[in-house]
Amino acid sequence: MTDREIIKKNLEEINNNIEKACLKAGRKSSDIQIIGVTKTIDIERINILKDFGIKTFGENKAQELLEKYDSIQDASWHFIGNLQTNKVKYIIDKVELIQSVNSLKLLNEINKRAFNINKNIPILLEINIANEPSKNGIKEEEIPFFLENMQSFKNITLNGLMCIAPFVENIEQNAQYFRKMRKLFVDIKAKNKDNINMRYLSMGMTNDYSIAIEEGANMIRIGTGIFGKRNY
Ligand SMILES: *Cc1c(COP(=O)(O)O)cnc(C)c1O
Repeated sequence: MTDREIIKKNLEEINNNIEKACLKAGRKSSDIQIIGVTKTIDIERINILKDFGIKTFGENKAQELLEKYDSIQDASWHFIGNLQTNKVKYIIDKVELIQSVNSLKLLNEINKRAFNINKNIPILLEINIANEPSKNGIKEEEIPFFLENMQSFKNITLNGLMCIAPFVENIEQNAQYFRKMRKLFVDIKAKNKDNINMRYLSMGMTNDYSIAIEEGANMIRIGTGIFGKRNY
């Protein structure tokens, strides 16, 4: 099969699964946004994905995002990886959403760089929902501290939450974490604070997006499921 045929077939399967998960949960599939995770994927295949209507791409390295940015027209970029503070200035004018904000230092730097270019940058807080030592993300109990600090960052808007669920044999085990994320999302939304406009619950990847949707995700980040296994 050609790359185009593979991507088309994979997308059909994903869309079917999204429909099924939505049906199960009583949700509309039009409410689910797919972010095409394009790390390590070449420009040609990213353009194919764009032809099929997915125009928002997730990258986890600043350098790689910069390399691709100029080669792909009419696309939006989300940063989804661990962002070093010294890289913020390179991507700040190129990203539609920074999904992986996991420290106060990073928030501070994003706010400063956004102020410099007179923009407001939407972000998600990355939550280490299963308290895994190996993972980035802020702990559930640290959230109030971040929300308090948000009030002073005038060039940032908190648009929601993101998580990477644990790697498990039985993906049903992740339902509990997705459910917890949804509850956190709803609780923050209810607070109705300045600089906070909760719109996106970004959870679910190739292995677990169906469960994530059943538990309330409205943004899923898929790489392998679209392009096949990555060659690092
Ligand atoms: C790589 C990556 C994904 C996509 O993972 P797949 O299993 O390939 O779908 C999603 N989110 C983040 C943060 C990633 O780094």
